[in-house]
Amino acid sequence: MTRAISLRNVTKTYGRNVRAVDRFTLDIAPGEFVVLLGPSGCGKSTVLRMIAGLEDITEGELLLDGERVDGVAPGERDMAMVFQNFALYPRMTNRDNISFPLRMEKSSEDPRPRVEATARMLGIEDILDRYPSQLSGGERQRVAMGRAVSRRPSCFLMDEPLSNLDAKLRNHLRAEISRLTRELGVTTVYVTHDQAEAMSLGDRVAIMRGGVLQQVSRPRDVYAVPANIFVATFIGTPRINLLEATVHAPLDGRMSIDLRRQRLPLPEPLSPDHQLLRIQQGRRIVVGLRSEAVRIATPAEARPGEVPISGLVEHMEYQGHEALVHFNTGSRPAVVADLESPRPAPAPRRRRRAPGAGVLSRWMESAGARAGSDPAPAMGPVVAVDDPDPFARETPAPGAGRPATGTSDLVVRTSPDVQLRPGAQVPLLVDLAHLYVFDVEGRRICPAPSVLPGLDV
Ligand code: ADP
Ligand code: MG
Repeated sequence: MTRAISLRNVTKTYGRNVRAVDRFTLDIAPGEFVVLLGPSGCGKSTVLRMIAGLEDITEGELLLDGERVDGVAPGERDMAMVFQNFALYPRMTNRDNISFPLRMEKSSEDPRPRVEATARMLGIEDILDRYPSQLSGGERQRVAMGRAVSRRPSCFLMDEPLSNLDAKLRNHLRAEISRLTRELGVTTVYVTHDQAEAMSLGDRVAIMRGGVLQQVSRPRDVYAVPANIFVATFIGTPRINLLEATVHAPLDGRMSIDLRRQRLPLPEPLSPDHQLLRIQQGRRIVVGLRSEAVRIATPAEARPGEVPISGLVEHMEYQGHEALVHFNTGSRPAVVADLESPRPAPAPRRRRRAPGAGVLSRWMESAGARAGSDPAPAMGPVVAVDDPDPFARETPAPGAGRPATGTSDLVVRTSPDVQLRPGAQVPLLVDLAHLYVFDVEGRRICPAPSVLPGLDV
């Protein structure tokens, strides 16, 4: 048996000030695999624990197969949880660990055939008579999975089950979890902060930030049509390029997007999406370009929808199957708040203001202050632009495409055979069909929210 899980406007507060989950609404279909994804501290485990009944709901409703379950004890919800830290009984053999939930059920059925079948499914028949301390991390996690599976629960709840394993094993077990849950057809809610894991496992991915659900979509839609700048930045490696920009819309000329030193002319006749940009004239916007939306080629090679710019090579990252070229195009990178775990508010810095930037700078400072002091900054703006030294306080993640000292603003994916020397000025073509525009609060304005290009929805 597998079941539907519905959360309606579910809020969880701890004490007076900590709003760990804020009006969370999600319907999970029977048999569906949903991944809760977001940075550390965004409320993923809290949602999972509320579904399991390990945590009370402060406000809102939780329904299983359409029925409210307030007051139904965790043990009666017929769910199995798998945790990051494996949680096995050290003094029991692995066999006893796996059969423990079956023995707890006190049914007259002999648990042995089920334990054997589960062990076969997980490839751990040979280690059943050992103790957890005699196993590797991957084997231990398989035993923990076995314990969850053997009971044939109606739901699996998994909280970062692979986070303690090394990368190779993680990929291997990821594939096994995918196969296993599909075979069993059991509703699964899986928590992770790893976007690659989320994208490869989930039927749908639910992205959270500061306790608030940002978007729930199929993996490919999360990548192709991110609801806002936070989602666009959280998903995808290398990270999407985000550039500060303004819309230039003269009454008697061609509309363009101004990237400080260079412009992206918008092709005439304007697409409906680009027409919408007209109302942004004069306002700050943020342009998002994934590393595959730009290619190294001359203006003469432009295909319809591609416009030329140029970039100075800062450095190249060789990746084996591809290379990432870091360019300086003279634009200014925009920063997304809260991408990593919540940080303490930075000490207020005195800075010289660029002429005309006063309102924005003040707004940004207040946004920064909010992000640090308010436990639920979720409704606040996502992007902070106009920071003179945007990456100074960021730790560059591997492949995040942000060198610690360089001034690159655009990372472009290219063939590993391309050889470019630092300092070279290189012609680039930007594919406008893959250009995202966000307003200063981080909402996506282009593609317009109602238009989902190329999606079979
Ligand atoms: P995640 O699993 O996404 O890392 P959690 O759901 O564990 O996040 O936590 C969400 C927020 O709730 C965090 O700010 C965390 O500090 C807070 N929190 C979690 N559990 C408690 C608790 N028992 N008491 C107070 N605050 C808590
Ligand atoms: Mg957690």
